[in-house]
Amino acid sequence: MLQCRTLRRLLIPAVRAGSQCSRHRPRAGKLVQRWILPLEQQMTRQMASSGGAPGGSGDSSLYTFIVAFSALGAGVYVFKTLKNDKVRYHDRISTLATKTEGQPEESKEQVEKKTAVQAGEESKVDVPTGTEGASSQSTEASPEADAISRPEIPSHAPFLLIGGGTAAFAAARSIRARDPGARVLIISEEDNPPYMRPPLSKELWFSEDPNIVETLRFKQWNGKERSIYFQPQSFYVSARDLPYVENGGIAVLSNKKVVYMDVRENKVKLDDGSQISYEKCLIATGGTPRSLPAIERAGEEVQQRTTLFRRVNDFIALEKITKEVKSVTIIGGGFLGSELACALGRRARLTGLEVIQMFPETGNMGKVLPEYLSNWTTNKIRREGVNVMPEAVVKSVAFQDGKLTIKLKDGRKVETDHLIAAVGLEPNVELAKSAGLEVDSDFGGFRVNAELQARSNIWVAGDAACFYDIKLGRRRVEHHDHAVVSGRLAGENMTGATKPYWHQSMFWSDLGPDVGYEAIGLVDSSLPTVGVFAKATSKDTPKSATEESGTGIRSESETEAVATEVNVPFSASATEASAAATSAKAPQQGEDYGKGVVFYLRDKVVVGIVLWNIFNRMPIARKIIKDSEEHEDLNEVAKLFNIHED
Ligand SMILES: Cc1cc2nc3c(=O)[nH]c(=O)nc-3n(C[C@H](O)[C@H](O)[C@H](O)COP(=O)(O)OP(=O)(O)OC[C@H]3O[C@@H](n4cnc5c(N)ncnc54)[C@H](O)[C@@H]3O)c2cc1C
Repeated sequence: MLQCRTLRRLLIPAVRAGSQCSRHRPRAGKLVQRWILPLEQQMTRQMASSGGAPGGSGDSSLYTFIVAFSALGAGVYVFKTLKNDKVRYHDRISTLATKTEGQPEESKEQVEKKTAVQAGEESKVDVPTGTEGASSQSTEASPEADAISRPEIPSHAPFLLIGGGTAAFAAARSIRARDPGARVLIISEEDNPPYMRPPLSKELWFSEDPNIVETLRFKQWNGKERSIYFQPQSFYVSARDLPYVENGGIAVLSNKKVVYMDVRENKVKLDDGSQISYEKCLIATGGTPRSLPAIERAGEEVQQRTTLFRRVNDFIALEKITKEVKSVTIIGGGFLGSELACALGRRARLTGLEVIQMFPETGNMGKVLPEYLSNWTTNKIRREGVNVMPEAVVKSVAFQDGKLTIKLKDGRKVETDHLIAAVGLEPNVELAKSAGLEVDSDFGGFRVNAELQARSNIWVAGDAACFYDIKLGRRRVEHHDHAVVSGRLAGENMTGATKPYWHQSMFWSDLGPDVGYEAIGLVDSSLPTVGVFAKATSKDTPKSATEESGTGIRSESETEAVATEVNVPFSASATEASAAATSAKAPQQGEDYGKGVVFYLRDKVVVGIVLWNIFNRMPIARKIIKDSEEHEDLNEVAKLFNIHED
């Protein structure tokens, strides 16, 4: 009896210690606590009854001994199991992180299982959750030594996005929205985190901040300040920690280029030789600005004095150059060339900089706008202080006596200090070769289906995608909103949705704060057009549109919801529609095109719409395109945009 009591005194604390020890382990604690606590209580109760009962018998002492002994055994078992679990967990994590080329690839199911287990185990760690930003800050509580041994570049990423632009960022967000634990790795050739490009040719030039090239914050036309970066650096997880972070996150591997894709092994190779395997991959490589053969032929001195404008670093460089030189010439009459002409024209008025813009078309944006509107735009840009030279085809460029001399095909000569070539974009499709992906021979870009898929686990979005639009046919679009819409769709499809491209993206262009337009669908000036215009008021400017909506990135200000409420006027026969197209009063040259709608027709159906100084009505335009119907009277359809409203 004495022995039994002594043994009991020794065993109870031991059992308690065992259970407390397991409680202090946060990882597997809950499961263990659930069965160890009742056992401890049960034991204590049994011991109390056996020991506490007056005049307890020898049987009861033996019983107490057996129970106590098995409890000790159970405690030891639990302790060992927990310890092994922890070791196995760390083994798994480091295997995932350090998996090398020679090792066999894991199946998708295996990796998914691991990720699920990992997520399950991690969810027991006491860390802040809720927002993406918060969750991405907390790393798995592994020993410091583990953290130091983590490779700089993870060898595996469940979601690998090639390109760190708008489409990739939109895809990363939508992947995380549908799969909150997802680990997304963006590989970017640039050294900045993802940023928006539209302000580079607009608002940033109108800033009065002398430190604009450092802050890269711009005032929207409504006066509100904002950064060009979609998210601050702190939003992202480091690539190194990505395999370990609580609830996954988005990491950006900057200054790295993907140079090879092994689509059989689901691997990519970077320019530094490292390799990363993936489960799902997005190609969002955007494009590279074209140069002119005349510039390429001209040699280094000319090329050093030429900017091909695309990146934030181009803005930073050009901002400095335009303060130093006396004359700058923009070659190109499209969106980019015309926006930069307006922006630099303002600088011309302030500093005396000479700004020349030249292009082969008869007017600015001549490939998009009907002739009368293109001519009006040219005059507007001239009023901004720009020397606009239409019908100018560059024959050669030379550097002589500290000046660039541009010779035009018609014999004219222009002297300038610096060139900006804004003559289009070449989609970045170098990876097509190693990946065995198809490049579209008409539009360029990776050919993908309506779900933006190139192969079973490879998607393409943004400027680099030549996709099948289920309404308008095969297309490639080089616009911000398309990058957002297609990136988002690709992200959704990468996480299991099988949605086709049906949400028509829009685009916009502002010629400074006073004139701007928004467009959707196929806007090609070679198509027949019908324009309906009205007098503009002071409210009909990009500035007041931004004041109303609160954002200068105008694709952010329109919503899909409004479109479904729009009742578009009835359709009509082909003959009636064609009559309407020809009978509508064509705007006259020299008119003041305050605000209006231009419909672009293909086979008598509206396939594109430009809203000229009409803002935030894109859902109506989207609905018209989506309906793909012939309309009896496009003047009636134009009324939907309230163009006659004051
Ligand atoms: C100055 C400017 C103004 C604009 N203004 C407007 C506007 O007002 N409205 C509008 O609708 N659109 C506008 N656009 C167009 C719009 O910005 C683009 O359509 C959009 O950025 C395309 O997004 P993306 O993600 O496809 O490509 P990008 O934004 O070009 O991103 C692609 C990224 O991938 C990187 N990359 C390429 N290859 C690799 C590789 N192999 N490995 C790693 N990284 C790689 C590139 O360096 C780049 O960072 C403008 C564009 C510019 C340049």
